[in-house]
Amino acid sequence: AAATPLLQVNGLKVSYGHIEAVKGIDFELHEGQITTLVGANGAGKSTTLLALSGLTKKAAGSVRFAGEDIGALAPHKIVSRGVVQVAEGRATLTTLTVRENLELGAYTRKDRGSRARDLDYVYSLFPRLKERADGLAGNLSGGEQQMLAIGRALMAKPRLLLLDEPSMGLAPIIVQDIFRTLREINKAGLTIFLVEQNVRQALKIADRGYVLETGKIVMADSGRALLGNPKVQDAYLGG
Ligand code: ATP
Repeated sequence: AAATPLLQVNGLKVSYGHIEAVKGIDFELHEGQITTLVGANGAGKSTTLLALSGLTKKAAGSVRFAGEDIGALAPHKIVSRGVVQVAEGRATLTTLTVRENLELGAYTRKDRGSRARDLDYVYSLFPRLKERADGLAGNLSGGEQQMLAIGRALMAKPRLLLLDEPSMGLAPIIVQDIFRTLREINKAGLTIFLVEQNVRQALKIADRGYVLETGKIVMADSGRALLGNPKVQDAYLGG
């Protein structure tokens, strides 16, 4: 039998007024894997993530994480369970230094002991952040701000890292760099759920992928199989 998923979503529906943005979807995330949810602009990807983080009201459905029903928990409780969403790159606190931003990421944690070690880990993943540790976050490039946002989330010691389009607005070479680092973070044991419009790059690093179209999951397979799927190629990879 397959292992119990780390996170299991069943029948998730989210509506904005009369608009049903997510129309009853099922998916699961397995420990130690990268799972991606890909789809076009407006498919409902961000809404799905907001629902997992408890930041939007669910019209229906259940969310089980590590054996617990977290579907009705407040956002801060969900974070305390280890489900941490990377803030948008631009949400870094621009008038604080890079190091201060990273330290803020650890504020929800009870154990203070290993923070210095975690800071070193983040700096080892993103040497640019170490070089700029004492500079203001507002002076970072877009790519560096995305790195900082990821680093800050890692400082919260997540069990599951959620990312909403980390590639957005970044040059292809920077996207590759960030995705390579996500792979490295995953290899170190962290489970990742990546929501992306950059379908090719996301499927390349994902163990498993789901394709969302107008609020419904229309395909689910390994990342590799989806990359090779003619329907995915036609619709999302330019044929
Ligand atoms: P994007 O990549 O543009 O964020 P997405 O796949 O993440 O797209 P969502 O942002 O989840 O899609 O949006 C899904 C649908 O819900 C869209 O039709 C969108 O217009 C609608 N929607 C999203 N947020 C709201 C809101 N706050 N109020 C009303 N409708 C919304």
